[in-house]
Amino acid sequence: MTAGPKRFPVPLARIRGDVRGEDRGEVRGDVRRQRPQRAAQTAVADALRRRMPAGLGLDSAAVRARMVARLREAGIDDDRVLAAFAAVERHRFVDSALANQAYEDTSLPIGFGQTISKPSVVGRMLQALLAGPAGEGDAAGAAGRRWQRVLEIGTGCGYQAALLARLAVNVVSIERVGALADKARANLAAAGVHNVQVRHGDGRAGVPALAPFDAIVSAAGGDDLPEAWLLQLATGGRLVAPGTEVRPGVQELLLVERGPGGCTRRSAGEVWFVPLKSGAE
Ligand code: SAH
Repeated sequence: MTAGPKRFPVPLARIRGDVRGEDRGEVRGDVRRQRPQRAAQTAVADALRRRMPAGLGLDSAAVRARMVARLREAGIDDDRVLAAFAAVERHRFVDSALANQAYEDTSLPIGFGQTISKPSVVGRMLQALLAGPAGEGDAAGAAGRRWQRVLEIGTGCGYQAALLARLAVNVVSIERVGALADKARANLAAAGVHNVQVRHGDGRAGVPALAPFDAIVSAAGGDDLPEAWLLQLATGGRLVAPGTEVRPGVQELLLVERGPGGCTRRSAGEVWFVPLKSGAE
């Protein structure tokens, strides 16, 4: 075996000048080659660049203000709902490849055959929950009170949960696809949302241990409303969920209110959501 060029130990004289360079915020010469953590630093910088595509200005409030103006034109006029849309950065909840579409009024794929709902549809649902069927006063609304506890079925990427988090003290959200529940937890943490509890399981059973809920909202539908949701609705509370398919590709959006004498249900328009499936995966 022939002796190669001697690399170690590195003579002190060769390092010293470079260390001084590093003190000035520069990294040069041999010292750089001895700093394997640069790879990790580069990876972190790359990851941050991927999360926030440069040049799109997606983290600018003006982008969301334009979306809010379009939501207003689409008939969403509840200031609490609009303020939530103005505050939550939707691009943080979608894949970076789709981030430049995040503020358009469109549903987008989030993996596992699921989609993040259109902002205008989410807005209609939240507004229906807050305004109530007759539009006259409500559980969280007229007095400016926030809901104490809200249940969301179908966390998906966590975007709607982040909106709900601005309208409620506590949000419980349940997702049947484990990988999406994990993704939602990560998205919510990255967005600084700490009052949402994401659970993995079949949301058709609701979360009896934490009931009653002031509001219940489902992002999946197609079947009749599970009895468990109605039982877990607080008196004065409201539920909004897509119901059964009334025509091919059209579900009725159902709004249920629990009064002292029981539940009343009415239609709040037409929508199309992914199916509410049984079991968890
Ligand atoms: N609110 C979500 C929308 C997700 S789409 C968002 O902002 O991204 C609807 C979600 O409902 C899907 O993620 C789907 O996996 C979930 N889902 C369908 N059936 C379910 C069930 N029985 N229990 C819990 N989640 C369910």
